[in-house]
Amino acid sequence: MTRQPRLSSKLQGFGTTIFATMQMLAIEHEAVDLGQGAPRLPTEPRVAQAAIDAIRAGHNQYAVGIGIPPLREAIADHQRRFYGLDVDPLTEVTVTAGATEAIFAAVMSLCETGDEVIVLEPFYDSYLPSIAMAGAVPKVVTLEAPDFRVDADALRRAFSAKTRLLILNNPHNPIGRVFDRVELQAIADLCLEHDVIVVSDEVYEHLVYEGSHLPMAALPGMADRTVTISSAGKSFSCTGWKVGWACAPPDLTVALRTAKQFVTYTNATPFQHAVATGLAIDGVYDDMLAGYRHRRDLLSDGLAKVGFDVIRPEGAFFVNADIRPLGYDDDVAFCMMLPVEVGVVAIPCSSFYDDKRRGRHLVRFAFCKSEDDINEGVRRLEGLHR
Ligand code: PMP
Ligand code: GLN
Repeated sequence: MTRQPRLSSKLQGFGTTIFATMQMLAIEHEAVDLGQGAPRLPTEPRVAQAAIDAIRAGHNQYAVGIGIPPLREAIADHQRRFYGLDVDPLTEVTVTAGATEAIFAAVMSLCETGDEVIVLEPFYDSYLPSIAMAGAVPKVVTLEAPDFRVDADALRRAFSAKTRLLILNNPHNPIGRVFDRVELQAIADLCLEHDVIVVSDEVYEHLVYEGSHLPMAALPGMADRTVTISSAGKSFSCTGWKVGWACAPPDLTVALRTAKQFVTYTNATPFQHAVATGLAIDGVYDDMLAGYRHRRDLLSDGLAKVGFDVIRPEGAFFVNADIRPLGYDDDVAFCMMLPVEVGVVAIPCSSFYDDKRRGRHLVRFAFCKSEDDINEGVRRLEGLHR
């Protein structure tokens, strides 16, 4: 009897995520890990203490599926304070198992089989599998080097009668762009014209070094058709807690919750309490941001000194380096060699591209690491010359 393939055809070709692969290499070779965007920084102490207090207070059973009221209220209050956005905590805010679940639930619940979803390339690695699992079809628009700006004409060509969603990531992983008002307005205009919903992944909203973060939902007419997704992981250095959320108008929220309730139903009750506490602390992001700005400069300057062409990011916590000036032209081969011969782990950018050839000269280094790790990583990379 011939065995059927075990993996559904929807998921064939996705393999193991690049983050898991590179994490294993880091462990195996005891390399300095500048790969995965997992902060090696202490969790914001007041938020960590609130989690301990919540566990001790007995908040350890299932939370209500849509998220505990104090967290939904804190999220609504955060949207008002930072962006002047009015969201109703009961009908427009849903707590999820990280931003990843919010993205999945949004795509799953808002797409029919065969619908088209526009994604901007390079893109975060969970977008295409979410689209595939929903039975939808990705339409990829490339952000072109060297500026990685949104090109309104290229974007217009991607829209069709079948376009249902556009997934935006701002601030952007991996490139570190913070899209400006002109670029966001171009996206908004097309989505309004074609009745398309934006799934806006804003997990790096508080990691902005140049310009300022403008949520898609703040553009005229867009609050009605935007699912704004964020997460506590980056803002409080607690990626392992997997507390994320989605803010969306009631009709989109009902849809998203319909999927979400059967994926995880609920998650991380004590951490939901802790994140509610964190969101309410005045100025809670200030020290973190100053620290990240310093590390961004340390890593960007260090990589430039090694001889890479460096893309200094406007936001998020990654520096991308063009490897061609050092005589390399294959990011995957370079990143597989690096842990073994140099003792450093980085992420090959082709993994963020549909057409792998496009990202082949770029490698992503994370600076959500200790200064010692960054300095040691750069010191080891200087060995590339020898
Ligand atoms: N979106 C982007 C752009 C990310 O970089 C990440 C991971 N850091 C996520 C979503 C996933 O966030 P979470 O860990 O909250 O699921
Ligand atoms: N968002 C993190 C990054 O880009 C990785 C999260 C994961 O491992 N899936 O590095």
